[in-house]
Order: sequence, then structure tokens, then C-alpha cells
Amino acid sequence: MSRPLAIFGGTFDPIHLGHLSVAWEASELLDAEVRLMPASVPPHRSSPLANAQQRVAMLKAALQKQSRLTLDTRELERSGPSYTIDTLTELRKEQGDRPLVLLLGVDAFAGLPSWHRWRQLFDVTHIGVLSRPGVQVTLPDTLLAEIATRRTDDPSTLHATPAGKVTELSVTPLEISATRIRELLAEGRDPRYLLPCGLFDDPSILAPYRNR
Ligand code: ATP
Repeated sequence: MSRPLAIFGGTFDPIHLGHLSVAWEASELLDAEVRLMPASVPPHRSSPLANAQQRVAMLKAALQKQSRLTLDTRELERSGPSYTIDTLTELRKEQGDRPLVLLLGVDAFAGLPSWHRWRQLFDVTHIGVLSRPGVQVTLPDTLLAEIATRRTDDPSTLHATPAGKVTELSVTPLEISATRIRELLAEGRDPRYLLPCGLFDDPSILAPYRNR
């Protein structure tokens, strides 16, 4: 079986070191390529301040000079919001039997039963649940029943099958949010060490958040 491909979705408005360090650690724990997948119009939240092109420019600047983390812009290229099941089904067709791993924060994972065709996700992908030390979330009974036979403590077992398992990935918490970064930039502050240094190479790259 080949090296797994893991997917880490988000708005990335803007990409920050919290995203990158979680994605990096997940990549190490799974020995996987991790693709950052920016979402176009998230159904549950307001529009990003930066448009799709600007967010892609920031992601490209952030991902320079390393190859563990890559970029996949397919959801931005579609019109309207994307269901995760459709994106993962498309990836499954492209990737053959390669293990796929959907990375979800533990809070997002707890809400999985409200997602469109959520049970079918396990036919096409594994799920890596990003837990944070000290954060306890109660999983609903429907989800606990679904994952009872799918859970594994050993992330390397995800290399042996294309889909269907759930594993917990314990990652280092960094208290950084894009909301806070947008606030700082709007106030004219300079959150230099919360953002990847590539975002400061081109002074125009953070313009969508300044002088608002
Ligand atoms: P916002 O503040 O605008 O809601 P965000 O910083 O939470 O944004 P998103 O683009 O919404 O960023 O997040 C993408 C993914 O990254 C989500 O799964 C989110 O839970 C996760 N994430 C964001 N910040 C962190 C962080 N500091 N540590 C771990 N995971 C994070």
C-alpha cells in the first residue's frame, strides 16, 4: 500500500501557524502527505475576507520549501459549497487504493452525524481525529456505535487498508485562531510570529485584512 494521503480542510482566512503545526504533526504521526484544502463557501459561516485567489496566494507562500504539506484547490474551483463526501469520493477515484485520511478536530468529529451522507465517508476514507491534551468532547451515541469496530490506537494500521478506520492523533495545541489574526491586522498590529514568515515576503499579501 502506498503512503497515505490526508486531507485538512478549512477556510484558511488566513493560514496561520496553528494550522501548519497541526497538519505537520499529523503528517508525521501518520507518515502521510497532508493536503491543505481551502473551502469555497463554508455552509455554516460568513464569507472569508480574502477571496479564493488571495487565500491560495497565502497558502502557496506558507507552503514553500517543504514537501510534507501540499495544496489542493479543487473545492475553490467548483461553484458553490462542496460536501465532504463528494470531495472524498472524487479523490478515491483518482487515488485508487491509496489510503485516504480525513483530518478533523475532535469538535468537528463529534458533529459528524449531522453531515450529508456521513456514514458513507467510512467507505472512502479513514478519519484522523485531532485531539488536544485537556480537551474532552462527548461523542454522540450514534457516532460511538458506528466507530466501535473501526477504532485503532496505532496510526500505522491506516497504511494497510484504503478506508474505514478511525484513529486519534494527539497534537500540540497552539492557541492561534484566524479570527484573532484578522482582529490584530484590522487594528494595524503585526502578528508576525503567529503567521508563517512567507506571508511577509510580499507586503500586499495581507492587504485584505488591513485598514478595515
Ligand atoms: P476562524 O478563526 O476564522 O474560525 P480558524 O483559525 O479556526 O479560523 P479554519 O480555517 O476555520 O481556521 O480552520 C481549519 C481547520 O484548522 C479546522 O479544522 C480548525 O479546527 C483547525 N484549527 C484552526 N486553528 C487551530 C489551532 N490553533 N490548533 C489546531 N487546529 C486548528
